[in-house]
Amino acid sequence: MTMETRTLGRTDLEVGVIGLGTEHLVDNRENMDAVLDLAVSAGVNYLDLVYNDPTDAHADYWEAIGPAIRRHRERLVLTLHWGFVYHEPLDRCQRCFDQALKRLGNDYAEIAMPGLVDTEPLWKGWTLESIERLGRYQRDGRVGFVGMSNHNPAVARTAVESGLIDVLMFPVNLYQHHGNQERAALLEACAEHQVGVVAMKPYYGGRLLTSEGRPTGITPAQCLHYVLSQPVATAVPGARNAGEMRQALSYLEASVEEKRSTPLDDALVDRLRGQCVLCKHCLPCPQEIPIPSVIYYLDYVEFYGLTPFLQQANREWYASLPAKGSDCIECDVCVERCPFEVDIIGKMRRAVEVFETAA
Ligand code: SF4
Ligand code: SF4
Repeated sequence: MTMETRTLGRTDLEVGVIGLGTEHLVDNRENMDAVLDLAVSAGVNYLDLVYNDPTDAHADYWEAIGPAIRRHRERLVLTLHWGFVYHEPLDRCQRCFDQALKRLGNDYAEIAMPGLVDTEPLWKGWTLESIERLGRYQRDGRVGFVGMSNHNPAVARTAVESGLIDVLMFPVNLYQHHGNQERAALLEACAEHQVGVVAMKPYYGGRLLTSEGRPTGITPAQCLHYVLSQPVATAVPGARNAGEMRQALSYLEASVEEKRSTPLDDALVDRLRGQCVLCKHCLPCPQEIPIPSVIYYLDYVEFYGLTPFLQQANREWYASLPAKGSDCIECDVCVERCPFEVDIIGKMRRAVEVFETAA
């Protein structure tokens, strides 16, 4: 199998068209080594590192992935995120970023990426201040380029046209991108301004492959072929293990026929609309409701947890949550953050009906 490479915008970095999002990797050493060994041997060199607090919140992840990265460091193009949740204080972002940089083996990240810049105020405030701080890292030779991750095409367009970012990480997939003129125009603007595009969510959080517990019949190779037919440099599927990495790499060996996809059928589009993909971008909730978990247990019961055992198991898991649907004050904060148009407040109300109301 031969990995095609593309130039990542004006960075001039050459990246394999299949990259790796590390968000969902099972964080034990054995798994990290297996995934990275497989990926790197197939020509994957672009890694997105979203977890950036190696001494506290993401310690297990870094204990596992740090050594695996260092074994392959000279072949990798690493993107390290700056900030993990919305409006994270800048001093905390910087502290975590410093600690994570040390775990990369050479105190250097090719790309630093302020994350989740989905609103205009976030761009104008936190992001511009973050970019200013990152300028110092660039001058000190600890960061090569500055990127930004985002799910909102209007805000992304502003950032791209500002000239302040070199790389944009943005969702590109058969469901969200196909036929959407605003998203297509954004990618054209990236090409015009030489901003390298990293395509995240190529499987739409896995929902293009499996929907409501059933395989859709769409393959990873078809999803990736669609994404890589757009003006993007690399796609970053989020494998959990070597098996899922292998599925992504199947794109490299797929025939033209195997890669060809058709527009999604109406029934699947209906099912995909407003579904939670467990990305956690809605957090934190001021009531400390673990929103993705509430939705996960609810969807499980509503869509496919119909056996008494699963009903009961999900009820017990829900009961153990520290805050529940009934704690929701309908402040709307999460709804504004959710890039997938999930009716979160409706889900909270439904969770109360399903889990908290006596039958
Ligand atoms: S609307 Fe409810 S679930 Fe969403 S952030 Fe506000 S309190 Fe939390
Ligand atoms: S509700 Fe939206 S933001 Fe929150 S985890 Fe689900 S898809 Fe992501």
